[in-house]
Amino acid sequence: MTIFEKIAAREIPAKIIWEDDDAIAFHDVNPQAPVHVLIVPKKIIPRLAEATKSDAAILGKLLLTAAELAKKLELTNGYRVVINNGPDAGESVPHLHVHLLGKRALAWPPG
Ligand code: AMP
Repeated sequence: MTIFEKIAAREIPAKIIWEDDDAIAFHDVNPQAPVHVLIVPKKIIPRLAEATKSDAAILGKLLLTAAELAKKLELTNGYRVVINNGPDAGESVPHLHVHLLGKRALAWPPG
């Protein structure tokens, strides 16, 4: 089981802020901004590169959920949505997840 499956199964604790049958969202344990939330599909897709056309609906849902949570968390001045794919991007958990970061100005380009 990936660490994110264990969170969804309540086997390890996390600050869960939203969940439905398809996905779960919780605060990142090592936040890179005052708001740093992860949105994770319950279907195990290791990374974006391994998603297929059959995953189109869940991929769309992850982004729409990020936008809804940004509203709920009052990220009124903007926010960033990130997917790290593979070693060069710093991916550390092989279970697809969308980062939602906000409540501070974020530099571009990223490091
Ligand atoms: P990535 O580097 O894109 O694969 O992102 C993985 C993220 O998962 C990192 O930002 C970690 O801080 C976060 N993370 C790892 N373990 C946990 C956990 N138990 N609860 C919440 N976030 C976690």
